[in-house]
Amino acid sequence: MLYLCDKIIDKVSIVKKLVIKLPRKIYLVEDEKNLNILLQKYLEMEGYSVTTFFDGSTAMERINDMPDLWILDIMLPDIDGYELIKAIKEHNKSTPVIFMSARNEELDRVVGLELGSDDYLSKPFLPRELVIRTNKLMERIYGKEKISC
Ligand code: CA
Repeated sequence: MLYLCDKIIDKVSIVKKLVIKLPRKIYLVEDEKNLNILLQKYLEMEGYSVTTFFDGSTAMERINDMPDLWILDIMLPDIDGYELIKAIKEHNKSTPVIFMSARNEELDRVVGLELGSDDYLSKPFLPRELVIRTNKLMERIYGKEKISC
């Protein structure tokens, strides 16, 4: 019996380790190609798994996925960031969202907050700033567990 318990505990700890090692998933929507690629690179260097979208409708097709975080540009060529966040929150209220915008900063910040965004970055910003805010948000929402890959 004791032996069996040990076996189970072993298995549980193995599973826990596997879970902790899984990188957190980020969906990034940004139509400026260079910025999209740059931000993806920075976030991946930090250990995140990043899926990128260059327009709203492609992102909308994946709206029912469950990434750990969405990072949305507000001004997109087709469906804007506001429509996306509404659809995201309809699907799952607790999914965190960071907004990025170069437009009327204060208005975007307020509307974003009203729609349930968790953070806001006004362009231009340093990629490192997005990484820091992402880390803080992940920590706040998912706890301190560190991703190790
Ligand atoms: Ca844009």
